[in-house]
Amino acid sequence: MILHNAVVVTMDSDCRVFQNGAVFIDKDKIKAIGQSPDILQQFSHVAHHILDLHGQILLPGFVNTHVHTSQQLGRGIADDVDLMTWLHHRIWPYESNMTEEDSYISTLLCGVELIHSGVTCFAEAGGQHVTGMARAVELLGLRACLTDSVMDSGDGLPPSWGIRTTDECLQSQKKLYEKHNNTADGRIRIWLGIRQVMNCTDRLLLETRDAGRELKTGIHMHVAEIPYENQVVMETRKVDHGTVTFLDKIDFLQENLLAAHTVCINDTEIGFLSRSGVKVSHCPASAMRMLGFARIREMLNAGITVSLGTDGAPSNNRMSIDQGVPFPRVSLPVRLKSAFEKCRRKAFLKSLTVFTIAVKK
Ligand SMILES: [Zn+2]
Repeated sequence: MILHNAVVVTMDSDCRVFQNGAVFIDKDKIKAIGQSPDILQQFSHVAHHILDLHGQILLPGFVNTHVHTSQQLGRGIADDVDLMTWLHHRIWPYESNMTEEDSYISTLLCGVELIHSGVTCFAEAGGQHVTGMARAVELLGLRACLTDSVMDSGDGLPPSWGIRTTDECLQSQKKLYEKHNNTADGRIRIWLGIRQVMNCTDRLLLETRDAGRELKTGIHMHVAEIPYENQVVMETRKVDHGTVTFLDKIDFLQENLLAAHTVCINDTEIGFLSRSGVKVSHCPASAMRMLGFARIREMLNAGITVSLGTDGAPSNNRMSIDQGVPFPRVSLPVRLKSAFEKCRRKAFLKSLTVFTIAVKK
């Protein structure tokens, strides 16, 4: 197949852009990129299909690194509340009542919206019924790193979740890995989940870390989202700052950890993340809505891999990686004003930097 007469943005190491560009695709591989006349001359005789894009822009798919597929049906159920109310009284009761069929439908709907915004690959942040998610991803044609929602202790858990033991949390994830990892022609990967530090035991953390090494797979975890989380960690885990300091102390930080949000971190903790090769997912919409901005510039300067996510539908009414600024969703004018001021002062990066982290991680 040849796609021609397009502005082709390659995002290769030289950031080449072809104003009148073309791409030759053989099966599922891009075999050649160049000027339209050259590609047409070279490959027309072997192409089954030649499509004129009439000057449209052709670019790599976006990678959305923090998505809650289970929350797609819950859009609007948790507006204008703080994070702990959001979790304990709105989202977890909703998620804990989902069936596998609900998860399948929710993931389908989420995936359609992701595709519409140019996303071709996503990382599930920890949701319900991975088997339902996997059925949907297979049908959608996306690539995905799917993760179960895993908690074995702490406050706010709905009754059906409160009875899960540490062993059950670990064993069920290993079974999901055996069943679904590398399925759908290799498009589905199974990662391990830790929903957040306030709802997991130290044993769950350490054995998840070890299982991640053993299976050579990723771990997805919400990290340092709000000051309250750091406060709880300081009191219960006896460290002098917060989650990242504690995770470093128990040797949990490693290259296969995708840490979502990481809003409440100090300079020392940026050093811990950098040294251990942890990857960060920043979600601008949920940052503006309730969490606050992460120290993206400082993390990039420290050499940390930072990527972009949308978070779930109740955190961002637009499941769109290129619309991370949710104008209608930020409900209070005062919050809007302060968010934009913060945005201008702290978070605005060169557009090429933002574009690069959206497609390359
Ligand atoms: Zn999340």
